Amino acid sequence: HSKEAGKGDVHFFSVDMKSSTDAKRALEAEMREALEGGQLFLLFQPRQSLSTARVTGVEALLRWRHPQQGVLLPAAFLGDAEENGMIVPFGEWVLQQVCLMLLRFKAAGRVDLPITINSSYREFCRGNYISHIAAKLDEFQLAPASLELDIREETLLRNPHLNKPVLEQIRQLGVSLAIDDFGAGLSNLRYLQELPMQRLKISRGSVGSICPVTNTGDLARTLIGIGRSLHLPVVAEGVESLSQQNFLRQNGCDEMQGNFFREPMTEAELRLMLEMA
Ligand code: C2E
Ligand code: MG
Ligand code: MG
Repeated sequence: HSKEAGKGDVHFFSVDMKSSTDAKRALEAEMREALEGGQLFLLFQPRQSLSTARVTGVEALLRWRHPQQGVLLPAAFLGDAEENGMIVPFGEWVLQQVCLMLLRFKAAGRVDLPITINSSYREFCRGNYISHIAAKLDEFQLAPASLELDIREETLLRNPHLNKPVLEQIRQLGVSLAIDDFGAGLSNLRYLQELPMQRLKISRGSVGSICPVTNTGDLARTLIGIGRSLHLPVVAEGVESLSQQNFLRQNGCDEMQGNFFREPMTEAELRLMLEMA
């Protein structure tokens, strides 16, 4: 911009815009500080087989112990981290921590418990994402099957032509892949259903994809059915009650994760639960 300055261009740069860039820069600096100052930590939430009651895997969930605001959930900072790019070093930190933990579990004889990490849109689109994961697995001499990646439905649908080759390379590595937050798009239907409307005018394009959603149970049943027809084991997330668990089991869901089984916990708590201590 300096080149143009004084040549008669008018640059609008309001106080608001300045303070918002300042705020963004400050936030990015805070995130860097979080990373370097050890304010990030992980909690782990196990998932359970609905048929055998065995723990089948553990998901790593990021937390930020903010010096002023206390412990922050991903919803409070991941959007900004995605925007300013800090999601990439955050993700590298998570992968490093999970590899170290897998190594500790391996040393304790637990090689049967895969750990899931969540992959963000921006990380997933990085050119060297796969080689980074491959290098880490190699560095720590870990079986690729001990790592699972959660990729959100939204991410998968955002870049269809780019995604498939990347996913195929991850599969070739031996890392397993899950579609996360599946049906989030459909849940908008549930919201629409709650509105006091009398008529729905469907577009020509959507006639081919009508979905008979009438209540939560039907939605879950429908999603389980989709998983079945895709030949994918279905994991129900966020299960909070026995009746939900029963419904899921009766409708052919394979695994569940949620506070009803276990809330996200520290590694020490997880070890106790697994009787590794
Ligand atoms: P997710 O991958 O779908 O993870 C499950 C979320 O549901 C977690 O929220 C978990 O705490 C919450 N949850 C589990 N059981 C229950 C339940 O019974 N009831 C309710 N109400 N919630 C339950 P959390 O930890 O806040 O994470 C939110 C999202 O942030 C995750 O959703 C994931 O998409 C993202 N995320 C978490 N950690 C990371 C990370 O390390 N990297 C990236 N890129 N994203 C992450
Ligand atoms: Mg997940
Ligand atoms: Mg999810």
